[in-house]
Amino acid sequence: MDMTRRGFLKGAGVAVAAATATALPGCLQEASAGNGNRRWGMVIDLKRCIACKACGAACRLENKTPPGVAYGVFLDEEKGQFPHAYRLSFFRPCMQCEESSCAKVCPTGATSHRKDGIVGVDYEKCIGCRYCIAACPYGARSFDYGHNYIEAANNPYNAIPSSEYGAEYGLRSKGRSPIGNVRKCTFCLHLQDEKGEYREPTACSRTCMGKAIHFGDLKDPEAKCLVHGEKMQELLARRGHYRLKEELGNEPSVYYLPA
Ligand code: SF4
Ligand code: SF4
Ligand code: SF4
Repeated sequence: MDMTRRGFLKGAGVAVAAATATALPGCLQEASAGNGNRRWGMVIDLKRCIACKACGAACRLENKTPPGVAYGVFLDEEKGQFPHAYRLSFFRPCMQCEESSCAKVCPTGATSHRKDGIVGVDYEKCIGCRYCIAACPYGARSFDYGHNYIEAANNPYNAIPSSEYGAEYGLRSKGRSPIGNVRKCTFCLHLQDEKGEYREPTACSRTCMGKAIHFGDLKDPEAKCLVHGEKMQELLARRGHYRLKEELGNEPSVYYLPA
């Protein structure tokens, strides 16, 4: 079976434009990329979160995600029943799981783990089968159906290059990545330099006015949050912490401090 993106689309009876699969810079999402001395992660302090949702807005702006594609989202749900009803509100980026469900089901190896723990999607290998969307227990992946906020092909907004993966995609066009691919939060890895260090923190963490989102290296015990300067491990030791759906064994790299 032809497991390339073009072959899969042909097999599925989908018309493939001649311009499909223009070579895009792939170095950042490859498994070999990233600084192995780092394990990037987040500590999200729910006591500090003021539910302003600026994190989600900053993510959309930074990654120029189209309609239906969500990387980091603010979830705000009502749980339980009166008189025990309560609101569950928190920011949910991709958990960058050490034992990720998404990579395990990916038939082409498009989803892989970088040396710094970030889980990437190589758009050139992704055939859009969406197995990973079904497998992710956190709902952290979305399929790019090719919708645009402004549909006119020549509108200036669509011509603004996405900085994602360090690639310049330019004008979005049908049959060309990232349309037809599955997409996800990559801890804004386009903000890393060639040594795998961050030139500036992720958009969600640096935008958070409540100082609730701490981003940094979880491997080095002395590493500090790149935004606020507090030691990541001290934040975790300060009071109880938990990870979402820990019982599944995904080993997420995102920790929450309770409200
Ligand atoms: S949260 Fe989902 S998409 Fe992200 S690494 Fe884990 S399983 Fe994969
Ligand atoms: S790390 Fe970047 S891509 Fe991920 S949720 Fe935050 S802003 Fe979005
Ligand atoms: S930006 Fe910070 S304070 Fe505002 S909703 Fe997001 S996590 Fe909470």
